[in-house]
Amino acid sequence: MPSTDFERQIEQVAHLMQNSDSILFITGAGISAESGLPTYRGISGLYNDQHTEDGVRIEEALSGSMMQTRPEITWKYMAQMEAAFRGKSYNRAHEVIALLESKFERVCVLTQNVDGFHHKAGSTNVIDIHGNMNDLLCLSCRYETSVPDYSGVEIPPICTNCGGQMRPDVVLFEEMLSTRKTTHLNQEFQKGFDMVFSVGTTSVFPYIAHPVVAAYHANIPTIEINPDRTEVSEFVHIKIAEKAVATLNAIWMYLNRSTP
Ligand code: NAD
Ligand code: ZN
Repeated sequence: MPSTDFERQIEQVAHLMQNSDSILFITGAGISAESGLPTYRGISGLYNDQHTEDGVRIEEALSGSMMQTRPEITWKYMAQMEAAFRGKSYNRAHEVIALLESKFERVCVLTQNVDGFHHKAGSTNVIDIHGNMNDLLCLSCRYETSVPDYSGVEIPPICTNCGGQMRPDVVLFEEMLSTRKTTHLNQEFQKGFDMVFSVGTTSVFPYIAHPVVAAYHANIPTIEINPDRTEVSEFVHIKIAEKAVATLNAIWMYLNRSTP
């Protein structure tokens, strides 16, 4: 018998899952926090309304217009972010989401993270809406390449094909989302979901908050896994104020206990 609130919530969520065929997981920096990656606010403490040592806010440094006018600035802070991510790997939370594909007809991951951990953990239907920092793109000839990390990469990198300027294939501030990815996302929404999870994100972007709010109003079970309150906390049926790894692992254990 469940004894704690946490155990009761896990049981409730697992029962809802047992009546579901399709699940959407929306994830943010919080799911990678237990891998040792700083969250958005954590990167070099730069996201606290302070200016960078180059005298601009981090949002300006990591913006599309800065990439066009002073790419060395954008690259400097991208490289700093990459250095903080280097050598880290996906964790049990990413792994459980990937394993859940064996239990459900359709599992889709919509992530804001640029670390590529969902792919590496084995999830096959991932929409990395902000791109992947290990993918580089030439601004002149559109040559694309992927690097395991930025060690050995000259910053800013030069295209090996044409000598042009390269950029990380990520969505910078002020930039539009990729239409290929928004189309994929819309196709997933058209198919619909039986449950929606929001894991480790503050949900400040409308395209991240909206699927949760819309599902909630349509009475589709919505679950949040986040120790803090966020933009979507009042639009979830079950709010689990715990960390991603312990929660998703407990859900996995429960599902395997009750459906051997
Ligand atoms: P955020 O940093 O704004 O918010 C992180 C959220 O995760 C917070 O609500 C926090 O309470 C929660 N959290 C922290 N530890 C957690 C844990 N162990 N389990 C569950 N939740 C936990 O992140 P965001 O909402 O994803 O927005 C950040 C933006 O920064 C995105 O655009 C993203 O592309 C970028 N970013 C990406 C990475 C990455 O790729 N790993 C890291 C930092 C920032
Ligand atoms: Zn090129």
